[in-house]
Amino acid sequence: LFDHDECDYLFKTILVGDSAVGKSNLLSRFSKDEFHLDSKPTIGVEFAYRNMKIGDKIVKAQVWDTAGQERFRAITSSYYRGALGAMLVYDITRRGTFENLRKWLHELREYGSRDMVIILVGNKSDLIDSREVDTEDGQSLAQLEDLCFMETSAKENLNVEDAFLQMITKIFEIA
Ligand code: GDP
Repeated sequence: LFDHDECDYLFKTILVGDSAVGKSNLLSRFSKDEFHLDSKPTIGVEFAYRNMKIGDKIVKAQVWDTAGQERFRAITSSYYRGALGAMLVYDITRRGTFENLRKWLHELREYGSRDMVIILVGNKSDLIDSREVDTEDGQSLAQLEDLCFMETSAKENLNVEDAFLQMITKIFEIA
């Protein structure tokens, strides 16, 4: 599984966004097809791999998760270093996590590489009754900031694979 020789490309990608927006669950859904009801208490960077086929090439996506560090504003520059893509996640049921995207974008642009592919993800799309951020708000911001955009549900496994695939494909195209 960790044999890098079997892939044609290895792309480092990172997850960013406020605490509890669903970053670890997007990662576990993508890498292991698992969902967890409780937030993971572990602190420290973690990452997972998954191979994807793009055309006739095998791309190994290495996805880093902050694993709680964002709570202490302790994400370091090493987290951003070498990342070719970032999934910027907010929670559609908490307006504040959308408002904070400005801060995250600023940080991505300060520490990330200039041509980093950023995909904006509004997670928890299954919770329609508690929605506080309209789909159009996500779309407008994405358009304004020139980002890809998708709403996902890690819980119901909606668009998760597509969001990662879109990010990886875009990196592949410019690599
Ligand atoms: P992180 O802090 O950003 O890594 O967030 P977590 O992945 O730990 O998720 C925070 C909480 O939101 C947990 O209780 C998850 O079960 C829940 N959660 C994550 N994704 C979804 C989702 O798509 N839908 C719903 N309903 N809950 C979710």
